[in-house]
Amino acid sequence: MSLAILGGSPLRTDAFQTWPVYSSDEEHALIDALRSGLWGGYGEWVQKFEKTFGEMHEVKHAISCSNGTVALEVALRAIGIQCGDEVAVTSFSFIASASSILLAHAKPVFADIDPLTMNLSPASLEAVITPRTKAIIVVHFGGHPADMDAIGEIAKRYGLAIIEDCAHAHGARWRGTPVGNFGAVGTFSFQAFKLATAGEGGIVVSNDAAIADAMWSYCNQGRIRGGQWYEHHTLGTNYRLTAFQAAVLQIQVQRISEQTALRTRNANYLREQLKGIAGLGTATPSELVQDHPQYLMTLRYDSREFSGLSRNDFLAAIRAEGIPMREVYPHPLYKNPMFKRSALEKFGCRGWDSIPDYSALYLEQCERICEDGLWLEHELFLGTEQDMDDIVAAIDKVQQNSSLLAGHNESGSVLRG
Ligand SMILES: *Cc1c(COP(=O)(O)O)cnc(C)c1O
Repeated sequence: MSLAILGGSPLRTDAFQTWPVYSSDEEHALIDALRSGLWGGYGEWVQKFEKTFGEMHEVKHAISCSNGTVALEVALRAIGIQCGDEVAVTSFSFIASASSILLAHAKPVFADIDPLTMNLSPASLEAVITPRTKAIIVVHFGGHPADMDAIGEIAKRYGLAIIEDCAHAHGARWRGTPVGNFGAVGTFSFQAFKLATAGEGGIVVSNDAAIADAMWSYCNQGRIRGGQWYEHHTLGTNYRLTAFQAAVLQIQVQRISEQTALRTRNANYLREQLKGIAGLGTATPSELVQDHPQYLMTLRYDSREFSGLSRNDFLAAIRAEGIPMREVYPHPLYKNPMFKRSALEKFGCRGWDSIPDYSALYLEQCERICEDGLWLEHELFLGTEQDMDDIVAAIDKVQQNSSLLAGHNESGSVLRG
């Protein structure tokens, strides 16, 4: 049972489930859209998809757009965020959660996360609010809805708008209510790795008619719904989805609930099995959550239980065993070069009173997980119980042999170079 990274045979050579999942249903939908000749973003394909997605999330208005990044920008503009405003945001997310704030000419203010759910920590959020703060971007991380009781209460107390970044959380519920209903706007992504995909795509949802109209208008060059084609009322752009994307998404989103049920079975099984392994654990989801889509399972690695082997060396070893585990975001959002003062001087807004300085920012929970976190991605959970057993067996194998590997590594290393 020698480790694959040291020249032994890998524990697993069969492929795991890959993504995207599709069938002849998507093929037929695409051909139908093609033959209809109605290829543009104004047609019935897009409208039908928006209706389906809105109903799925029990929300009054759903407006599709080009991707999940512009969805956030559209949301910020529609709620009236302006130059000089501050928007509080989690520090553990994809760049769009924070870069969208700059695109709307506002200042991102970063808050720390809850170490169990990786979601925005309500206490940290409250600590960063200033008189300039106008909104909060909350990410339902990995598919686990954030604590919307506590965050909702803070938003109410300080008069802040909430934007829910639901890019990981299609169909998830908090206390029975679907995500996208807790704030002024919910945004989703249909990028290639997301839980439903057309390669690219996005949607914004809201229960507020005025906000929905503003979002529609922004995505449609400042036109107004039902207005004249060449009449543009506000500054907008073209962020429309195509009929081809809508046709594929119409089928993709109908797979979500069944896929979520399967992923949940496998993820729950894996969580149980992982309890038998010291030093590589994952938290149990909150009982207030339903239909958790298991977008990402985050594991916390403790090198002390692996003979001091570093997280990245463990990762290389487990991947060599045939397990497609991944490292989490390499650093908190605020450590990206774009948030250096020298960069912000270029794309900051002239109306800002000062350029923010994030260089001394250290949000402990976020910093820690960037060092010890590992991910298993959603498609793995569309596999079998045997797949889960193989993941556990591979972890166990690396753990049993970790002292050997840690020794190897100190002495010059098969892992580097
Ligand atoms: C993927 C993602 C986005 C952006 O979506 P795109 O469609 O890729 O632009 C936004 N927020 C989070 C948390 C994401 O993971």
